[in-house]
Amino acid sequence: MEEDINSYKRKLKRLETELSLLYEVSNAMRTTLDLDKILYIILTAITAHAGLGFNRALLFLVNEDENCLEGKIAIGPGSAEEAGKIWSEIDAERMTLEDLISCYEEFRSNPSQLDQLVKSIKIPLRDDGGILALAAMEGMPIEVLDGEVRSKINDLVIDILKADYFVIAPLKAKNKVIGVIFADNIYSRKPITKEDIKLLTMFANHAGLAIENSKLYHQTLHLSYTDSLTGIYNHGRFQYLLEEKLKEAKENDRSLSLIMIDIDNFKNYNDNLGHPAGDEVIKKIADIVKNSCRKQDIPARYGGEEFALILPNTSKEEARIIGERLRKRISDYPFKNKEIQPQGAITVSMGIATFPEDAEEKKELIQKADLALFTAKNKGKNQVVVYSIYLGVR
Ligand code: GH3
Ligand code: MG
Ligand code: MG
Repeated sequence: MEEDINSYKRKLKRLETELSLLYEVSNAMRTTLDLDKILYIILTAITAHAGLGFNRALLFLVNEDENCLEGKIAIGPGSAEEAGKIWSEIDAERMTLEDLISCYEEFRSNPSQLDQLVKSIKIPLRDDGGILALAAMEGMPIEVLDGEVRSKINDLVIDILKADYFVIAPLKAKNKVIGVIFADNIYSRKPITKEDIKLLTMFANHAGLAIENSKLYHQTLHLSYTDSLTGIYNHGRFQYLLEEKLKEAKENDRSLSLIMIDIDNFKNYNDNLGHPAGDEVIKKIADIVKNSCRKQDIPARYGGEEFALILPNTSKEEARIIGERLRKRISDYPFKNKEIQPQGAITVSMGIATFPEDAEEKKELIQKADLALFTAKNKGKNQVVVYSIYLGVR
């Protein structure tokens, strides 16, 4: 009788620990939509003594485009010696799960050997992809708990990790496998129990949903920034980024140039060939603008057939050279039915204004680049005009 009561007490205690772990971790995950931080929280919960307490945990996510598992993050010491040191520190400082989660920035700026290793791993999702791929494809946890089973496994990743007994749990979101978690006790040699596996699997299901939510959020955010026809930034994002880049230019005492671009006689092209043909031209011009840019430059679709190009750290003269090169690339491009245009080619006009000499603020900078563009149109199109005070005098 007393034995029964004690066993119930132990079970109750364990359930209490499991529940509070799940509660604590879901709360932590709710505080952020940053995918990397969510992954860090998940692995911290799996490795912390106050959590599931595994020695090492590695997380892989499915890359659907490449049909593979990609290593994303790992937590765990690189050697038994390091393990002893870390764990005695954690015990000495009585670090709770919350304390460990708050070490995220430190983890990021100081990546461990194991973390660097996992980030370089890509596993094809094929029958011969190994045991991690198998867990992902089957959507089932795999446990290797004794030496005999281990000796039958021929798996490069498991060999690199020098793992002997371990567990792999799939990460699921709405019945779809989105990744896997590998966990083991390589240093403490503590046996992995059925209870550990049950908890890890339950936890992985929970984590899968948090990962999926964060991904959906970022996809939606990306869509809200992007112009659907061309894939470059839309008007709203352009306005925001110009404001930000101007702020940076002011803070760092740097110049910034803005190029406004408008397709010449585009109505003529559309009227003769239809809007779908016109859309193809808009798409191609966006591609040319994007591919002619330096890494720091920001192209956007300003409106219908108008583009804007933000050039941080760029003087007026540099911007003029960049604009001129871009103008030439567009007029040289063999667009379909280009003969239909008055100049026998698809051409663009551009206007350039520069911070700080032409304008201090965003609105004025756009107005002045627009005025320069208007002048380019008046002077016969297919040219680049740089704003100067003389343009303002009419
Ligand atoms: P200009 O040389 O003075 O720029 O002459 P334009 O005919 O290009 O005139 P404007 O810049 O005012 O361009 C307006 C035309 O651009 C109207 C429309 O036919 C075309 N256009 C605007 N947005 C789109 C779009 O999203 N798709 C297509 N296919 N055409 C568009
Ligand atoms: Mg226009
Ligand atoms: Mg036009």
